Amino acid sequence: MIRGVPARQSVVEIEYSKQVSDDVIFGLYKSKYGADYILVTDLEPAEARTVFPCVDEPAYKAVFRLQITTEDGLGVIANTPIVRKERAGAGRTTYTFQETPRMSTYLFFFAIGRFEETKLTVGGIDVITATRPGQAEDSQVALKISADSLLEFQSYYDVPYPLKKLHVVALPEYHTGAMENWGAISSRESYALVRDDTNFRLKNRGAMSIVHEVAHQWFGDLVTMKWWDDLWLNESFATLMGYKMTQKLHPDWEMWGVFLRDEVYLRSGAMTLDALSTTHPVQAHIKDVAEATHTFDSISYGKGACVLRMLEGYVGEEAFRKGVSDYLKKFSFSNAAGRDLWDALGGRSGLPVASMARAWLTRPGYPLVRVRVVGNKIELTQRPFLLSGDRTTGTWPIPIKIRADGKETSFILKRESARLNVAATTELLLNVGRTGFYVTLYDEAAYDLLASNFPRLSSHDRAGLMNDLYLLLQAGLVKPELFARFVSLCRSSPDPLTIQIVSEQLRTIEAIAPNSPIVQEVIRTFYPPLLEYFGEVPQPGEAPSVSTTREQLMSYFAELDDSYAEKMANLFGQYANLNPNLKAAAAIGFAVTNGARAEKTLQEMVITSQSELDRDILYRGLSAFRDPHLIENSLNLGLSGRVSRSDSRYSMIFAAHNPAARDTVWQWVKKNYDTMWKMYAGTQQFYIDIGAVIPICAVEHEADARRFLSGRRLKNGGSSVTRILEVLHIKASLRKRLLRSGN
Ligand SMILES: [Zn+2]
Repeated sequence: MIRGVPARQSVVEIEYSKQVSDDVIFGLYKSKYGADYILVTDLEPAEARTVFPCVDEPAYKAVFRLQITTEDGLGVIANTPIVRKERAGAGRTTYTFQETPRMSTYLFFFAIGRFEETKLTVGGIDVITATRPGQAEDSQVALKISADSLLEFQSYYDVPYPLKKLHVVALPEYHTGAMENWGAISSRESYALVRDDTNFRLKNRGAMSIVHEVAHQWFGDLVTMKWWDDLWLNESFATLMGYKMTQKLHPDWEMWGVFLRDEVYLRSGAMTLDALSTTHPVQAHIKDVAEATHTFDSISYGKGACVLRMLEGYVGEEAFRKGVSDYLKKFSFSNAAGRDLWDALGGRSGLPVASMARAWLTRPGYPLVRVRVVGNKIELTQRPFLLSGDRTTGTWPIPIKIRADGKETSFILKRESARLNVAATTELLLNVGRTGFYVTLYDEAAYDLLASNFPRLSSHDRAGLMNDLYLLLQAGLVKPELFARFVSLCRSSPDPLTIQIVSEQLRTIEAIAPNSPIVQEVIRTFYPPLLEYFGEVPQPGEAPSVSTTREQLMSYFAELDDSYAEKMANLFGQYANLNPNLKAAAAIGFAVTNGARAEKTLQEMVITSQSELDRDILYRGLSAFRDPHLIENSLNLGLSGRVSRSDSRYSMIFAAHNPAARDTVWQWVKKNYDTMWKMYAGTQQFYIDIGAVIPICAVEHEADARRFLSGRRLKNGGSSVTRILEVLHIKASLRKRLLRSGN
């Protein structure tokens, strides 16, 4: 509007209605439990348009005035508090909500259902958890961490929380983890309903995800990306902040180790996805929302967070915080792009942040740094790293941190190669502290030095070294024998984080090549001494990372070894009172040992359990059977309507890693692919789940998988499907190499 000219306003009224489908768990849907349901929205990236007429793009922010009329006795929750409640005739009530600030459509939220609420008021803001009836007691951890992190973020951002209240709504059926709707975070129950005595690994995952969504209330909600090509800006920042604040609130949780494990190294972590030829730049060119859907991956979350962490290290923590605060103040209630953040960080630090950021964010992939010791010099060369082993060219400005013979050296490797006048006769380590996003391949002499210094390496350095070796093994750049040599070093000098990472790597290797002699030998010698070292009984006051490691070792070994499974089966008798970190091993042991006789008990427990967290653990048992028919029953249970539809992923993901169940899972995935695709409404979560499953369960059926996923399925799944096929090919090639080794 130009000042002085009378505004000409037109008001358009649109009357519309929408039928809610029973089949989906996305958009406006029924999140069911028992005979009841919560009617709820989940709208990112582009479902708002299916709920009400709107210009459904993040840059078109609008003010929302919402009124909901519903039958008496139901609760209603939206982005803002209720300001008025009126009778609306026979058995109906109308709720009027406070007008929202300017906000993007994908953050709009409402839920109608029977809720139990728990409230905590901090700094004048009501923090409220809402659960279905009977679950409120389990929301105490979420309530406290939401309130604590809200206060922490207010002071970190130096910007007050922009709304009057913050809900965390736990949903019995939910397709993904959690969502940052402004003022009303929605979450799957297993993330929001964690208790103090919950299995530590699951408690930690849930709490961190709530903190991630609280971080978004400013970064993403108050200031939103202009378009989906900067989705990573929201997600990588919230990922970094989720870990940073959880670490601040719970220093003993060792969140930076969890960050490396879950976001960067393991399974489809950033260093795996970004080493595929089907990867994309963090800052991807997104032409439409369908494409945006496929960028909710660990490149946007994990790699983006690594690059931000690298930039934070480059400009310094305080300059980084002040730059972020400037950015939020400048673009409040509006939209911004990546370059606006670089300008703010550059403004506070006086450093060329934009050029460093551009180099890492606008091109896909990351470098392999090859190290050779030549006399009194170290020679470094870089080239792009691909898991397929293919060679391409290109360079990055890599912040290199080397420790050699007790001295640390830092510099930026800009060219393809460099020679340093640094002697490495007793010690050599690259990527010290593991803040660099690259993989290192040493020469034989340097690996010998690393082996002799292995017990003295820090936890993150050891974990990083094992991560690199596993990536290089998949790329065919190191031999299985070298990987096995370092696995045995991990075993002789155990560090909890490294053992968690290695046992997860071994579980995958075992799943794809159980008959490989070298794999059998590694597995046989890995678990027993470690189980002895960590003990099978939790000790009072032990570090959470120790509990997590013990849980992992016990449950994986129970899957592998019949006599150990039998021992674990003995624990099952006291299941209800068992330490939560021992329950998975007990359920697996019970299933492996008793087969069909265990099925009914485990299924009953899953069907009657009110806790998704408990079910998550029980499905471990249901997925461990040796008999394919029993596995098929477990898989069918997830889609039977007898359990929450959120459960459908559990048995599929767990059973894929069971060598006895692999083919059954593959046949089942083919049979139920279309049903699941429809249920997940084609969202990224579907591709994340089948992406975790197909490369393992179809490892001997590569051609069949290619055929199955061609045509319509490929078109619907876009880049996610080609990526799954590429990972499958890499796993199938690794399987062949492992089967040849040690013979
Ligand atoms: Zn997020």
